Amino acid sequence: MTHPAQPKASHFINGAYVEDTSGTPIPVIYAATGEQIATVYAATPAIVEQALSTAKAAQKEWAKMTGTERGRILRRAADIMRERNHELSVLETYDTGKPLQETLVADATSGADALEYFGGLAGSLTGEHIPMGEDWVYTMREALGLCVGIGAWNYPTQIACWKGAPALACGNSMVFKPSETTPLCALKVAEILHEAGAPAGIYNVIQGMGEVGAALVTDPRVDKVSLTGSVPTGKKVYAAAAAGMKHVTMELGGKSPLIIFDDADVENAVGGAINGNFYSSGQVCSNGTRVFVQKGIKEKFLARLAERTGNAILGDPMDEATSFGPMVTENQMNIVLGYIEKGKEEGARLICGGKRADMDGFFVEPTVFADVTDDMTIAREEIFGPVMSVLDFDTEEEVIARANDTEFGLSAGVFTNDFSRAHRVIGQLEAGSCFINSYNDAPVEAPFGGVKASGVGRENSKEAIKHFSQVKSVYVRMGDVEAAF
Ligand code: NAD
Repeated sequence: MTHPAQPKASHFINGAYVEDTSGTPIPVIYAATGEQIATVYAATPAIVEQALSTAKAAQKEWAKMTGTERGRILRRAADIMRERNHELSVLETYDTGKPLQETLVADATSGADALEYFGGLAGSLTGEHIPMGEDWVYTMREALGLCVGIGAWNYPTQIACWKGAPALACGNSMVFKPSETTPLCALKVAEILHEAGAPAGIYNVIQGMGEVGAALVTDPRVDKVSLTGSVPTGKKVYAAAAAGMKHVTMELGGKSPLIIFDDADVENAVGGAINGNFYSSGQVCSNGTRVFVQKGIKEKFLARLAERTGNAILGDPMDEATSFGPMVTENQMNIVLGYIEKGKEEGARLICGGKRADMDGFFVEPTVFADVTDDMTIAREEIFGPVMSVLDFDTEEEVIARANDTEFGLSAGVFTNDFSRAHRVIGQLEAGSCFINSYNDAPVEAPFGGVKASGVGRENSKEAIKHFSQVKSVYVRMGDVEAAF
Protein backbone atom coordinates (compact mmCIF):
# COMPACT_ATOMS: atom_id res chain seq x y z
CA MET A 1 0.00 0.00 0.00
CA THR A 2 1.20 3.50 -0.77
CA HIS A 3 2.38 5.39 2.29
CA PRO A 4 0.35 8.56 3.04
CA ALA A 5 3.54 10.63 2.71
CA GLN A 6 4.05 9.64 -0.95
CA PRO A 7 3.34 12.75 -3.06
CA LYS A 8 1.20 12.61 -6.19
CA ALA A 9 4.30 13.34 -8.27
CA SER A 10 7.84 14.63 -7.76
CA HIS A 11 7.50 18.16 -9.12
CA PHE A 12 4.93 20.94 -9.13
CA ILE A 13 5.21 23.07 -12.29
CA ASN A 14 2.82 25.47 -13.95
CA GLY A 15 0.07 24.81 -11.40
CA ALA A 16 0.13 21.00 -11.56
CA TYR A 17 1.97 17.94 -10.32
CA VAL A 18 4.43 16.67 -12.91
CA GLU A 19 6.31 13.37 -13.00
CA ASP A 20 9.35 12.21 -14.93
CA THR A 21 10.54 8.85 -13.66
CA SER A 22 13.63 8.98 -15.87
CA GLY A 23 15.29 11.17 -13.22
CA THR A 24 17.48 9.65 -10.48
CA PRO A 25 15.23 8.09 -7.81
CA ILE A 26 15.46 9.81 -4.40
CA PRO A 27 14.26 7.62 -1.53
CA VAL A 28 12.52 9.37 1.36
CA ILE A 29 13.46 7.65 4.61
CA TYR A 30 11.49 8.19 7.84
CA ALA A 31 14.21 8.98 10.37
CA ALA A 32 12.34 7.48 13.32
CA THR A 33 12.20 3.98 11.83
CA GLY A 34 14.62 3.88 8.93
CA GLU A 35 11.82 2.72 6.57
CA GLN A 36 11.41 4.12 3.09
CA ILE A 37 8.09 5.96 2.96
CA ALA A 38 8.20 7.63 -0.45
CA THR A 39 10.20 8.05 -3.65
CA VAL A 40 10.65 11.13 -5.77
CA TYR A 41 12.75 11.55 -8.92
CA ALA A 42 15.41 14.20 -9.46
CA ALA A 43 14.57 16.74 -12.13
CA THR A 44 15.88 15.85 -15.58
CA PRO A 45 17.16 18.68 -17.81
CA ALA A 46 13.69 18.67 -19.44
CA ILE A 47 12.01 19.25 -16.05
CA VAL A 48 14.47 22.02 -15.15
CA GLU A 49 13.73 23.66 -18.49
CA GLN A 50 9.97 23.33 -18.02
CA ALA A 51 10.14 24.92 -14.55
CA LEU A 52 12.35 27.82 -15.60
CA SER A 53 10.52 28.67 -18.81
CA THR A 54 7.16 28.49 -17.05
CA ALA A 55 8.29 30.69 -14.18
CA LYS A 56 9.90 33.18 -16.54
CA ALA A 57 6.76 33.44 -18.67
CA ALA A 58 4.37 33.76 -15.70
CA GLN A 59 6.28 36.47 -13.84
CA LYS A 60 5.43 39.54 -15.92
CA GLU A 61 1.65 39.15 -15.54
CA TRP A 62 2.05 38.48 -11.81
CA ALA A 63 4.09 41.66 -11.41
CA LYS A 64 1.37 43.62 -13.21
CA MET A 65 -1.23 42.72 -10.60
CA THR A 66 -1.60 45.19 -7.76
CA GLY A 67 0.25 44.40 -4.57
CA THR A 68 -3.08 44.12 -2.77
CA GLU A 69 -4.23 41.43 -5.20
CA ARG A 70 -1.00 39.48 -4.79
CA GLY A 71 -1.15 39.91 -1.04
CA ARG A 72 -4.71 38.61 -0.89
CA ILE A 73 -3.56 35.35 -2.50
CA LEU A 74 -0.68 34.99 -0.05
CA ARG A 75 -2.97 35.65 2.90
CA ARG A 76 -5.49 33.11 1.60
CA ALA A 77 -2.64 30.58 1.37
CA ALA A 78 -1.75 31.37 4.99
CA ASP A 79 -5.32 30.60 6.04
CA ILE A 80 -5.30 27.29 4.16
CA MET A 81 -2.00 26.35 5.79
CA ARG A 82 -3.41 27.03 9.23
CA GLU A 83 -6.58 25.03 8.49
CA ARG A 84 -4.44 22.12 7.34
CA ASN A 85 -1.83 22.53 10.08
CA HIS A 86 -2.27 19.04 11.55
CA GLU A 87 -1.92 17.24 8.24
CA LEU A 88 1.04 19.44 7.22
CA SER A 89 2.73 18.90 10.58
CA VAL A 90 2.43 15.13 10.24
CA LEU A 91 4.04 15.41 6.80
CA GLU A 92 6.82 17.61 8.20
CA THR A 93 7.45 14.94 10.82
CA TYR A 94 7.65 12.24 8.14
CA ASP A 95 9.97 14.43 6.06
CA THR A 96 12.37 15.37 8.88
CA GLY A 97 11.71 13.09 11.88
CA LYS A 98 11.10 16.15 14.12
CA PRO A 99 8.54 15.44 16.85
CA LEU A 100 4.94 16.40 16.19
CA GLN A 101 5.09 18.37 19.46
CA GLU A 102 7.40 20.76 17.56
CA THR A 103 6.05 20.59 14.03
CA LEU A 104 2.51 21.44 15.18
CA VAL A 105 3.72 24.84 16.39
CA ALA A 106 6.87 25.67 14.41
CA ASP A 107 6.61 24.71 10.75
CA ALA A 108 3.37 25.19 8.80
CA THR A 109 2.48 27.85 11.38
CA SER A 110 5.73 29.70 10.75
CA GLY A 111 5.23 29.32 7.00
CA ALA A 112 1.73 30.74 7.36
CA ASP A 113 3.12 33.67 9.37
CA ALA A 114 5.46 34.50 6.47
CA LEU A 115 2.65 34.28 3.90
CA GLU A 116 0.42 36.46 6.07
CA TYR A 117 3.11 39.03 6.88
CA PHE A 118 4.39 39.48 3.32
CA GLY A 119 0.84 39.26 1.99
CA GLY A 120 0.06 42.20 4.26
CA LEU A 121 3.08 44.17 3.07
CA ALA A 122 2.54 43.55 -0.66
CA GLY A 123 0.12 46.42 -1.12
CA SER A 124 2.38 48.92 0.60
CA LEU A 125 5.48 48.54 -1.58
CA THR A 126 6.02 51.93 -3.12
CA GLY A 127 8.73 54.24 -4.34
CA GLU A 128 9.57 57.80 -3.38
CA HIS A 129 9.05 61.24 -4.78
CA ILE A 130 12.24 63.32 -4.59
CA PRO A 131 11.78 67.05 -5.36
CA MET A 132 14.60 68.68 -7.40
CA GLY A 133 13.40 72.27 -7.60
CA GLU A 134 11.01 72.35 -10.53
CA ASP A 135 12.12 68.90 -11.65
CA TRP A 136 11.70 65.75 -9.67
CA VAL A 137 12.84 62.15 -9.36
CA TYR A 138 10.54 59.31 -8.63
CA THR A 139 11.54 55.79 -7.74
CA MET A 140 9.75 52.55 -8.42
CA ARG A 141 10.23 49.38 -6.36
CA GLU A 142 10.26 46.63 -8.96
CA ALA A 143 10.46 42.86 -8.87
CA LEU A 144 13.80 41.23 -9.65
CA GLY A 145 12.16 38.70 -11.98
CA LEU A 146 12.73 34.95 -11.70
CA CYS A 147 14.04 33.85 -8.30
CA VAL A 148 15.48 30.48 -7.33
CA GLY A 149 15.13 29.15 -3.78
CA ILE A 150 17.28 26.27 -2.56
CA GLY A 151 16.50 24.70 0.80
CA ALA A 152 18.25 22.82 3.61
CA TRP A 153 16.59 19.82 5.28
CA ASN A 154 15.86 21.05 8.78
CA TYR A 155 12.78 23.24 8.12
CA PRO A 156 11.40 22.24 4.70
CA THR A 157 8.02 24.00 4.99
CA GLN A 158 9.38 27.09 6.69
CA ILE A 159 12.24 27.58 4.22
CA ALA A 160 9.90 27.15 1.23
CA CYS A 161 7.66 29.90 2.68
CA TRP A 162 10.38 32.23 4.01
CA LYS A 163 11.76 32.43 0.48
CA GLY A 164 8.51 32.16 -1.48
CA ALA A 165 6.39 34.66 0.46
CA PRO A 166 8.61 37.77 0.09
CA ALA A 167 9.55 36.81 -3.48
CA LEU A 168 5.92 36.56 -4.55
CA ALA A 169 4.85 39.63 -2.57
CA CYS A 170 7.33 41.70 -4.60
CA GLY A 171 6.04 40.36 -7.92
CA ASN A 172 8.70 37.73 -8.63
CA SER A 173 8.15 34.13 -9.64
CA MET A 174 10.04 31.27 -7.99
CA VAL A 175 11.50 27.90 -8.75
CA PHE A 176 12.21 26.20 -5.42
CA LYS A 177 14.43 23.16 -4.98
CA PRO A 178 14.06 21.52 -1.59
CA SER A 179 16.85 19.52 -0.03
CA GLU A 180 16.99 16.02 -1.49
CA THR A 181 16.77 14.76 2.10
CA THR A 182 13.34 16.35 2.72
CA PRO A 183 11.56 16.72 -0.63
CA LEU A 184 7.93 16.39 0.51
CA CYS A 185 6.76 19.58 2.26
CA ALA A 186 7.57 22.20 -0.37
CA LEU A 187 5.22 20.42 -2.79
CA LYS A 188 2.38 21.14 -0.35
CA VAL A 189 3.36 24.81 -0.21
CA ALA A 190 3.13 24.97 -4.02
CA GLU A 191 -0.19 23.13 -4.01
CA ILE A 192 -1.64 25.48 -1.36
CA LEU A 193 -0.47 28.63 -3.14
CA HIS A 194 -2.14 27.36 -6.30
CA GLU A 195 -5.34 26.55 -4.39
CA ALA A 196 -5.26 30.07 -2.93
CA GLY A 197 -5.25 31.56 -6.43
CA ALA A 198 -1.60 32.00 -7.39
CA PRO A 199 -1.46 31.90 -11.20
CA ALA A 200 0.10 28.80 -12.73
CA GLY A 201 3.88 29.02 -12.95
CA ILE A 202 4.41 31.56 -10.18
CA TYR A 203 5.68 29.10 -7.58
CA ASN A 204 7.21 25.86 -8.85
CA VAL A 205 8.97 23.06 -6.99
CA ILE A 206 11.45 20.68 -8.56
CA GLN A 207 13.48 17.95 -6.88
CA GLY A 208 17.11 17.00 -7.10
CA MET A 209 20.58 16.96 -5.63
CA GLY A 210 23.22 19.68 -5.82
CA GLU A 211 23.54 19.38 -9.59
CA VAL A 212 19.90 20.41 -10.09
CA GLY A 213 20.53 23.37 -7.78
CA ALA A 214 23.64 24.23 -9.81
CA ALA A 215 21.67 24.06 -13.09
CA LEU A 216 19.18 26.56 -11.67
CA VAL A 217 21.84 28.92 -10.31
CA THR A 218 23.74 29.11 -13.57
CA ASP A 219 20.74 29.62 -15.86
CA PRO A 220 20.88 33.09 -17.45
CA ARG A 221 17.11 33.59 -17.00
CA VAL A 222 17.48 33.52 -13.22
CA ASP A 223 17.78 36.92 -11.52
CA LYS A 224 18.23 35.94 -7.88
CA VAL A 225 19.29 32.97 -5.81
CA SER A 226 18.34 32.47 -2.18
CA LEU A 227 20.10 29.54 -0.52
CA THR A 228 19.74 28.00 2.91
CA GLY A 229 22.57 25.55 3.45
CA SER A 230 26.09 24.99 4.69
CA VAL A 231 29.01 27.39 4.27
CA PRO A 232 30.85 25.21 1.70
CA THR A 233 27.70 25.03 -0.49
CA GLY A 234 27.13 28.75 0.04
CA LYS A 235 30.60 29.56 -1.30
CA LYS A 236 29.96 27.52 -4.45
CA VAL A 237 26.50 28.94 -5.05
CA TYR A 238 27.59 32.53 -4.34
CA ALA A 239 30.47 32.17 -6.84
CA ALA A 240 28.19 30.67 -9.51
CA ALA A 241 25.62 33.42 -8.99
CA ALA A 242 28.34 36.09 -9.15
CA ALA A 243 29.42 34.82 -12.57
CA GLY A 244 25.96 35.74 -13.81
CA MET A 245 25.83 38.94 -11.70
CA LYS A 246 22.73 37.64 -9.90
CA HIS A 247 21.33 38.89 -6.59
CA VAL A 248 21.87 36.51 -3.66
CA THR A 249 20.68 35.77 -0.17
CA MET A 250 22.85 33.27 1.68
CA GLU A 251 21.52 31.74 4.91
CA LEU A 252 24.37 29.51 6.03
CA GLY A 253 25.76 27.72 9.04
CA GLY A 254 26.91 28.86 12.45
CA LYS A 255 28.77 28.08 15.65
CA SER A 256 27.09 30.70 17.76
CA PRO A 257 28.04 31.82 21.28
CA LEU A 258 25.59 31.88 24.16
CA ILE A 259 27.11 33.82 27.06
CA ILE A 260 25.83 33.29 30.59
CA PHE A 261 27.03 35.71 33.26
CA ASP A 262 27.16 34.94 37.00
CA ASP A 263 24.20 37.21 37.70
CA ALA A 264 21.86 35.47 35.25
CA ASP A 265 18.71 33.68 36.30
CA VAL A 266 20.02 30.10 36.17
CA GLU A 267 16.69 28.46 35.29
CA ASN A 268 16.17 30.81 32.37
CA ALA A 269 19.76 30.41 31.22
CA VAL A 270 19.42 26.61 31.31
CA GLY A 271 16.14 26.94 29.38
CA GLY A 272 17.87 29.15 26.79
CA ALA A 273 20.74 26.69 26.43
CA ILE A 274 18.27 23.81 25.95
CA ASN A 275 16.27 25.74 23.34
CA GLY A 276 19.51 26.80 21.66
CA ASN A 277 20.94 23.27 21.43
CA PHE A 278 18.31 20.55 21.58
CA TYR A 279 15.28 21.90 19.68
CA SER A 280 14.88 19.89 16.44
CA SER A 281 17.54 17.59 17.92
CA GLY A 282 20.09 20.35 17.47
CA GLN A 283 19.57 20.67 13.70
CA VAL A 284 19.15 24.44 13.78
CA CYS A 285 21.57 26.83 12.08
CA SER A 286 21.30 29.57 14.71
CA ASN A 287 21.99 27.26 17.68
CA GLY A 288 24.12 28.63 20.52
CA THR A 289 26.41 25.62 20.60
CA ARG A 290 29.28 27.35 22.40
CA VAL A 291 27.81 28.02 25.83
CA PHE A 292 30.21 30.29 27.74
CA VAL A 293 29.41 30.14 31.47
CA GLN A 294 31.07 32.49 33.96
CA LYS A 295 32.96 30.49 36.55
CA GLY A 296 30.88 31.53 39.58
CA ILE A 297 27.77 29.64 38.45
CA LYS A 298 29.35 26.94 36.36
CA GLU A 299 28.66 23.90 38.56
CA LYS A 300 25.16 25.07 39.50
CA PHE A 301 24.39 25.62 35.80
CA LEU A 302 25.76 22.20 34.80
CA ALA A 303 23.85 20.39 37.53
CA ARG A 304 20.49 21.90 36.51
CA LEU A 305 21.29 21.45 32.83
CA ALA A 306 21.98 17.73 33.32
CA GLU A 307 18.84 17.33 35.42
CA ARG A 308 16.58 19.06 32.90
CA THR A 309 18.19 17.40 29.88
CA GLY A 310 17.36 14.09 31.58
CA ASN A 311 13.67 15.02 31.19
CA ALA A 312 13.84 14.88 27.37
CA ILE A 313 11.41 12.29 26.03
CA LEU A 314 12.90 10.36 23.13
CA GLY A 315 10.46 8.21 21.23
CA ASP A 316 7.87 8.00 18.48
CA PRO A 317 7.82 11.50 16.94
CA MET A 318 4.11 11.12 16.15
CA ASP A 319 3.38 10.80 19.89
CA GLU A 320 2.79 14.34 21.07
CA ALA A 321 4.46 13.52 24.40
CA THR A 322 7.80 12.99 22.60
CA SER A 323 10.00 16.07 22.96
CA PHE A 324 13.17 14.90 21.21
CA GLY A 325 13.40 13.22 17.81
CA PRO A 326 16.03 11.48 15.69
CA MET A 327 18.67 12.95 13.38
CA VAL A 328 17.34 13.51 9.88
CA THR A 329 19.41 10.71 8.33
CA GLU A 330 21.69 7.87 9.31
CA ASN A 331 24.56 9.82 7.75
CA GLN A 332 23.86 12.88 9.89
CA MET A 333 23.66 10.63 12.96
CA ASN A 334 27.09 9.17 12.15
CA ILE A 335 28.56 12.66 11.65
CA VAL A 336 27.25 13.71 15.07
CA LEU A 337 28.50 10.51 16.75
CA GLY A 338 31.90 11.18 15.17
CA TYR A 339 32.01 14.64 16.77
CA ILE A 340 31.03 13.16 20.14
CA GLU A 341 33.98 10.76 19.91
CA LYS A 342 36.27 13.71 19.02
CA GLY A 343 35.00 15.57 22.09
CA LYS A 344 35.87 12.60 24.32
CA GLU A 345 39.28 12.09 22.67
CA GLU A 346 40.23 15.74 22.96
CA GLY A 347 39.50 15.72 26.70
CA ALA A 348 36.11 17.40 27.15
CA ARG A 349 34.16 16.23 30.22
CA LEU A 350 30.96 14.37 29.29
CA ILE A 351 28.09 15.56 31.50
CA CYS A 352 25.23 13.65 29.90
CA GLY A 353 24.31 11.75 26.74
CA GLY A 354 27.24 10.89 24.52
CA LYS A 355 25.94 8.00 22.42
CA ARG A 356 23.32 6.68 20.02
CA ALA A 357 20.05 6.05 21.84
CA ASP A 358 19.16 2.39 22.27
CA MET A 359 16.10 2.37 20.03
CA ASP A 360 15.04 2.19 16.37
CA GLY A 361 15.74 5.18 14.15
CA PHE A 362 18.62 7.63 14.03
CA PHE A 363 18.46 8.96 17.61
CA VAL A 364 21.48 10.53 19.33
CA GLU A 365 21.09 11.33 23.03
CA PRO A 366 21.12 15.02 23.95
CA THR A 367 24.76 15.50 24.86
CA VAL A 368 26.54 18.06 27.03
CA PHE A 369 30.30 18.46 27.28
CA ALA A 370 31.88 20.68 29.96
CA ASP A 371 35.46 21.99 30.30
CA VAL A 372 35.52 22.52 26.55
CA THR A 373 38.35 24.74 25.33
CA ASP A 374 38.37 27.07 22.33
CA ASP A 375 40.68 24.90 20.25
CA MET A 376 38.69 21.65 20.52
CA THR A 377 37.02 20.44 17.32
CA ILE A 378 33.57 20.44 18.98
CA ALA A 379 34.02 24.13 19.81
CA ARG A 380 35.13 25.12 16.32
CA GLU A 381 33.05 23.19 13.79
CA GLU A 382 29.32 23.23 13.17
CA ILE A 383 28.01 19.82 14.29
CA PHE A 384 24.32 20.27 13.44
CA GLY A 385 23.22 17.85 16.13
CA PRO A 386 22.41 17.74 19.85
CA VAL A 387 25.91 18.42 21.18
CA MET A 388 26.36 21.35 23.57
CA SER A 389 29.82 22.57 24.48
CA VAL A 390 30.12 24.41 27.79
CA LEU A 391 33.19 26.64 28.11
CA ASP A 392 34.26 28.63 31.21
CA PHE A 393 35.17 32.31 31.32
CA ASP A 394 36.23 34.95 33.83
CA THR A 395 35.71 38.43 32.36
CA GLU A 396 33.43 40.25 29.97
CA GLU A 397 36.29 41.43 27.78
CA GLU A 398 37.73 37.94 27.52
CA VAL A 399 34.43 36.29 26.61
CA ILE A 400 33.65 38.82 23.86
CA ALA A 401 37.00 38.18 22.19
CA ARG A 402 36.57 34.41 22.43
CA ALA A 403 32.95 34.50 21.25
CA ASN A 404 34.00 36.41 18.12
CA ASP A 405 36.96 34.15 17.38
CA THR A 406 35.19 32.13 14.68
CA GLU A 407 34.61 32.33 10.93
CA PHE A 408 30.84 32.19 11.59
CA GLY A 409 28.53 35.01 12.68
CA LEU A 410 24.93 33.88 12.56
CA SER A 411 23.59 34.33 16.11
CA ALA A 412 24.62 35.20 19.65
CA GLY A 413 22.91 35.36 23.01
CA VAL A 414 23.55 36.86 26.44
CA PHE A 415 21.94 35.95 29.75
CA THR A 416 22.43 38.51 32.52
CA ASN A 417 20.32 40.60 34.86
CA ASP A 418 22.56 43.63 34.25
CA PHE A 419 20.88 45.32 31.31
CA SER A 420 23.68 47.77 30.60
CA ARG A 421 26.03 44.85 30.29
CA ALA A 422 23.58 42.92 28.11
CA HIS A 423 23.40 45.72 25.52
CA ARG A 424 27.12 46.54 25.79
CA VAL A 425 28.08 42.90 25.10
CA ILE A 426 25.53 42.32 22.34
CA GLY A 427 26.80 45.50 20.66
CA GLN A 428 30.26 43.96 20.38
CA LEU A 429 29.30 40.48 19.19
CA GLU A 430 29.79 39.72 15.50
CA ALA A 431 26.44 38.14 14.70
CA GLY A 432 23.32 38.98 12.73
CA SER A 433 20.54 37.58 14.94
CA CYS A 434 20.98 38.19 18.66
CA PHE A 435 19.09 37.48 21.87
CA ILE A 436 19.06 38.94 25.38
CA ASN A 437 17.74 36.59 28.07
CA SER A 438 16.25 34.38 25.37
CA TYR A 439 17.44 32.17 22.53
CA ASN A 440 16.33 31.09 19.05
CA ASP A 441 13.15 33.15 18.67
CA ALA A 442 12.59 33.78 14.95
CA PRO A 443 9.42 35.81 14.42
CA VAL A 444 8.71 36.85 10.83
CA GLU A 445 8.68 40.50 11.93
CA ALA A 446 12.41 40.41 12.84
CA PRO A 447 15.27 40.31 10.31
CA PHE A 448 17.09 36.97 10.27
CA GLY A 449 20.54 36.24 8.86
CA GLY A 450 24.24 36.18 9.49
CA VAL A 451 27.49 38.10 9.14
CA LYS A 452 30.97 36.81 8.22
CA ALA A 453 30.83 33.30 6.71
CA SER A 454 27.27 32.76 7.97
CA GLY A 455 25.65 34.67 5.19
CA VAL A 456 24.67 37.60 3.06
CA GLY A 457 21.33 39.40 3.14
CA ARG A 458 18.39 38.96 5.49
CA GLU A 459 15.22 36.93 5.49
CA ASN A 460 11.96 37.97 7.13
CA SER A 461 10.84 41.48 8.11
CA LYS A 462 10.88 44.51 5.82
CA GLU A 463 14.57 43.77 5.17
CA ALA A 464 13.59 40.77 3.04
CA ILE A 465 11.68 43.08 0.70
CA LYS A 466 14.96 44.85 -0.13
CA HIS A 467 16.47 41.52 -1.11
CA PHE A 468 13.61 40.52 -3.45
CA SER A 469 13.13 43.85 -5.23
CA GLN A 470 15.15 46.62 -6.84
CA VAL A 471 14.71 50.34 -7.21
CA LYS A 472 14.38 52.14 -10.51
CA SER A 473 14.87 55.91 -10.39
CA VAL A 474 13.36 58.25 -12.96
CA TYR A 475 14.54 61.86 -13.42
CA VAL A 476 11.74 64.08 -14.75
CA ARG A 477 12.75 67.43 -16.28
CA MET A 478 10.05 70.08 -16.51
CA GLY A 479 12.02 72.73 -18.42
CA ASP A 480 14.31 72.82 -21.44
CA VAL A 481 17.42 70.68 -21.71
CA GLU A 482 20.70 72.61 -21.55
CA ALA A 483 23.53 71.11 -23.58
CA ALA A 484 27.14 72.18 -24.27
CA PHE A 485 26.59 72.29 -27.98
P1 NAD B 1 23.81 21.69 2.16
O1 NAD B 1 24.69 22.84 2.01
O2 NAD B 1 24.39 20.34 2.04
O3 NAD B 1 22.63 21.74 1.06
C1 NAD B 1 21.76 22.84 0.99
C2 NAD B 1 21.04 22.80 -0.35
O4 NAD B 1 21.95 23.15 -1.38
C3 NAD B 1 20.46 21.44 -0.74
O5 NAD B 1 19.20 21.63 -1.33
C4 NAD B 1 21.46 20.93 -1.76
O6 NAD B 1 20.91 20.02 -2.69
C5 NAD B 1 21.86 22.22 -2.44
N1 NAD B 1 23.15 22.20 -3.13
C6 NAD B 1 24.26 21.48 -2.84
N2 NAD B 1 25.27 21.78 -3.69
C7 NAD B 1 24.79 22.71 -4.54
C8 NAD B 1 25.35 23.42 -5.65
N3 NAD B 1 26.61 23.23 -6.04
N4 NAD B 1 24.57 24.32 -6.29
C9 NAD B 1 23.31 24.55 -5.89
N5 NAD B 1 22.72 23.90 -4.87
C10 NAD B 1 23.46 22.98 -4.19
O7 NAD B 1 23.07 21.90 3.54
P2 NAD B 1 22.14 20.88 4.37
O8 NAD B 1 23.01 19.77 4.86
O9 NAD B 1 20.94 20.56 3.58
O10 NAD B 1 21.68 21.81 5.57
C11 NAD B 1 22.46 22.00 6.71
C12 NAD B 1 23.20 23.31 6.66
O11 NAD B 1 22.30 24.37 6.39
C13 NAD B 1 23.88 23.66 7.94
O12 NAD B 1 25.16 24.20 7.71
C14 NAD B 1 22.98 24.72 8.54
O13 NAD B 1 23.61 25.58 9.45
C15 NAD B 1 22.49 25.42 7.33
N6 NAD B 1 21.22 26.10 7.60
C16 NAD B 1 21.21 27.47 7.65
C17 NAD B 1 20.04 28.15 7.95
C18 NAD B 1 20.00 29.66 8.01
O14 NAD B 1 18.92 30.22 7.87
N7 NAD B 1 21.10 30.36 8.18
C19 NAD B 1 18.88 27.45 8.20
C20 NAD B 1 18.93 26.06 8.13
C21 NAD B 1 20.11 25.39 7.83
